[in-house]
Amino acid sequence: MAFRLRQKGYRGSITMIGDEVWPPYQRPPLSKKYLTGELARDRLSLKPAETYEENGIELLLDRRVARVDRAARRVFFDGNDDNSLDYETLIFATGGRPRQPDDLGDTLPENIFTLRAISDADAMRERLAPGKHLLVVGGGYIGLELAAVARKRGLKVTLLEQAPRILGRVACSQTADYFRHLHTENGVTLREGVSIESFEGPEQRPSFVKLTEGDEVSFDVAVFGIGLLPNDTIAREAGLECAGGIIVDGWGRTSDPDIRAAGDCARLPYRGDMIRLESVHNAIAQAEHIADDIVCPGGPSYAPVPWFWSDQYDCKLQIAGLNLGYTKVVTRPGTKPGAFSNWYFKGEEMIACDAINDARSFMMAKRWLAVAHRPCPELICDPSWDLAKF
Ligand SMILES: Cc1cc2nc3c(=O)[nH]c(=O)nc-3n(C[C@H](O)[C@H](O)[C@H](O)COP(=O)(O)OP(=O)(O)OC[C@H]3O[C@@H](n4cnc5c(N)ncnc54)[C@H](O)[C@@H]3O)c2cc1C
Repeated sequence: MAFRLRQKGYRGSITMIGDEVWPPYQRPPLSKKYLTGELARDRLSLKPAETYEENGIELLLDRRVARVDRAARRVFFDGNDDNSLDYETLIFATGGRPRQPDDLGDTLPENIFTLRAISDADAMRERLAPGKHLLVVGGGYIGLELAAVARKRGLKVTLLEQAPRILGRVACSQTADYFRHLHTENGVTLREGVSIESFEGPEQRPSFVKLTEGDEVSFDVAVFGIGLLPNDTIAREAGLECAGGIIVDGWGRTSDPDIRAAGDCARLPYRGDMIRLESVHNAIAQAEHIADDIVCPGGPSYAPVPWFWSDQYDCKLQIAGLNLGYTKVVTRPGTKPGAFSNWYFKGEEMIACDAINDARSFMMAKRWLAVAHRPCPELICDPSWDLAKF
């Protein structure tokens, strides 16, 4: 957002405040190539360090905003009420924090992790030694990516999913079946519909879990990938309307006209629903939309075509759209071996696509989702029908 404001000619001062020690960086590699060691830390940065100064953007790192005084238009930093900053417009881009297991307290034992930041990945990576046993709790995309990385690093991996199947919240059973098979073939022990009753062993270094089903699973390291909680506490305490995220309109405006919110922390309108989108594409596109509206108000409301990706082993999954309320899924074989796509329909309307090793279907789905006229299920599942001719 800061850079977009400058590109669009914003002349006022811009201050970015972050509570981490690193300049803004990409998080997706943390569960992929950064954890395998294939991508160095300096390659994670979103922008070269000098570009902030060059663009007149003041970066305050390692500083946490503790509260906002809306009447005074002022933010206060942690631990010191004399330390504050005035604003004309305030943007919440506070992201989220990983959901933690209820029974382990605020500080996790030394061998149990969640993954959101570089510091989490660094701490975890040290323990992912070949031959160790990693327990992954949660069969969503982050859990599955971590399982794949750990297998690549030579660990034994067990993945536990509490719901009847993996990817239950985000994908159809056809996509889940593919990934279950992929992980099982790569040596992951994947158990669905199982819950942890307790962690056992030394308090600071548990060594096995008891399952409610009665059996036990031992581990050296465990990682939880059980979802994200939006960082909306400060906004809520400042009296902004929040409901599992900061409520915004199609221009990122909160219930205070001087405050906007973007990215993982915001709950925004999407085709008649209020949703949160946890994706890099949305964080950037929504922020840029807000920047444009600050510089030049009066444009159309934000209408994203969400997209997301996940890398597991040699498989690339690309998702276009959101499958909220889907009623039907059809599968289309790809043109190359191992490529296919699952297309989601709500009634006759195509609303999303999971493309597996099938970049062409992903690109077409993204294009169609931006327009009203879309292909019907019968056409999609006919392999002789050329997508590009629609
Ligand atoms: C391991 C992992 C893998 C992912 N993989 C993918 C992927 O493959 N594809 C994809 O599209 N998305 C992926 N995502 C999601 C994507 O990274 C997020 O959607 C994106 O980072 C959201 O950006 P954001 O700016 O809203 O929030 P964040 O990136 O979370 O940034 C928010 C920043 O604000 C800071 N902050 C919070 N509160 C305060 C405060 N009070 N004071 C100061 N600073 C504060 C936070 O510490 C953080 O640095 C992944 C995320 C993770 C963690």
